[in-house]
Amino acid sequence: MFHAQPLTPWVTLLAVKRREVWKCNVLAVDCGAEIVLIDGNLTAAEIDRVEADYGRPVSTVFSTHTHLDHVNHLHAAAARGIRILSPAPEAAYLRDIDRLLVAGGMRTKSEREEMKHFMGEVLGLKPVSAVEEFTPGAQFAIGGITIRSVHLPGHAPGHCGYLAGAVSDVRQVFLVADLGLDDFGAWYGFDYCDLAAYRESIHRAETLYDPENHVLLGSHGRPHFPENPGNFKAIRAGIDRTGELILAALRECGAATVDELACSGLYYSPDALGRLDGTMKKLYRYWERCTILHHLRELEERRLVRRDAAADRWSARG
Ligand SMILES: [Zn+2]
Repeated sequence: MFHAQPLTPWVTLLAVKRREVWKCNVLAVDCGAEIVLIDGNLTAAEIDRVEADYGRPVSTVFSTHTHLDHVNHLHAAAARGIRILSPAPEAAYLRDIDRLLVAGGMRTKSEREEMKHFMGEVLGLKPVSAVEEFTPGAQFAIGGITIRSVHLPGHAPGHCGYLAGAVSDVRQVFLVADLGLDDFGAWYGFDYCDLAAYRESIHRAETLYDPENHVLLGSHGRPHFPENPGNFKAIRAGIDRTGELILAALRECGAATVDELACSGLYYSPDALGRLDGTMKKLYRYWERCTILHHLRELEERRLVRRDAAADRWSARG
């Protein structure tokens, strides 16, 4: 289930309390005759409770992006005829999970089949064919409420945050989704992630954020009110720190392949990795490999590392 915390008179945070790790913060927006959910990755029982609490139906779910913890229950909403709206190209990934895995960088069919089995059988993910696509940045008006999508690519190509509130009020809730406001920080563990775009998105969100009038919120963690404003600098510092760790590791060992660098404590903690097994371990290894590769490419552009293409080994310059 979830714990409901009103953020403004129109927007309530549904902090999901399920035991599974694949969950995210959900926003319920009171649009008068209908309730709209943002990142409404809720089970059928949880949607029942929203409708009972408000005494009105949930009409629409706006999705932020197609990552497991944001979409593995969306089929429950779709099955009830609730409209599912998703930014491009995330909608295409929701319709066809194979497309997500190809874009994420899983090139071999066997790798993708194992992952699809895990996502479907273990995590309950089902593709949602009825999803409607919109252009990131699109704005919607429903019952006197404005829901504005804010394109924040980098974490995923179509990754969107949302600004939601009444047309007549300056107070808004600003959901920045997986930009990294929580303790974990930024995440860019798929091939389609883009570190330069990620840095620009942090800047875009920071520029849009009005600490006086916005309740700021990430998809994981607690909301930020004027008395505890969100810290975008900390997200940037976390990214920089990972880059510095990778550079320091290369300086120490001379040269290494991405595989040699992965799972050595540069990104995920060895303790966390040690608790995983089977497909989960493979998944984390895959994510960390991609993360390190994004940093190596950035460091290469800054002429701090070089790649020996023949041996596929990376080394620090100078
Ligand atoms: Zn995500």
